[in-house]
Amino acid sequence: MAGRLVSWMSYGFRTFVLRQRLPYLFGLIMANVAAAVTRQVFASVTLTKANAHHLERYVEEIGATGLFRGIALNLLTHRPEIVARYGFSVNERQELLDRAWALKRQGYPLMLSAAAYKDLRNNDWKRPLPQIELGLSPDERYTCCRDVANKEVCDACGYVNCAEVSQILALKPSAIWQAVRMTGVLERGK
Ligand code: SF4
Repeated sequence: MAGRLVSWMSYGFRTFVLRQRLPYLFGLIMANVAAAVTRQVFASVTLTKANAHHLERYVEEIGATGLFRGIALNLLTHRPEIVARYGFSVNERQELLDRAWALKRQGYPLMLSAAAYKDLRNNDWKRPLPQIELGLSPDERYTCCRDVANKEVCDACGYVNCAEVSQILALKPSAIWQAVRMTGVLERGK
């Protein structure tokens, strides 16, 4: 996606609350998404114990807006005690990933390639990724993310997009094809 303007909108429990309590503000946000200068707008959903049961509902609602090119998922990634309280263990994630994969098979634009699905399920994708750099300030830069030195966090990383990038770097066809489709490279070439 280098050189492309890509927008992200976090969608989840807070978005639901916003829509119910402050529908005008929710409408403004969606209007802003609709008016984006690029159609490369992605929704991002972080799944926790509090909202994972809404996964299908989130995906259906986001898909129905027709405003988002893709839907990115994250499985809560944090210190082990925080994940134990609010997130899912590596084994518990398998059921969530199966549900996400079922949605993908139904045609929803989830950013989950077959290769990433398999390796996330097995939790054996190659990480951290030296090709990614996170710069929070001129003096604060990390390889991959700020938890790069925290092996416990890294070992249970739930950043699905990082798993996708690892698959692209490993030249897995399903991940490369997904990236091509999501970035609209082929459409621009027409
Ligand atoms: S936790 Fe995930 S994103 Fe962060 S450094 Fe480790 S592999 Fe990379």
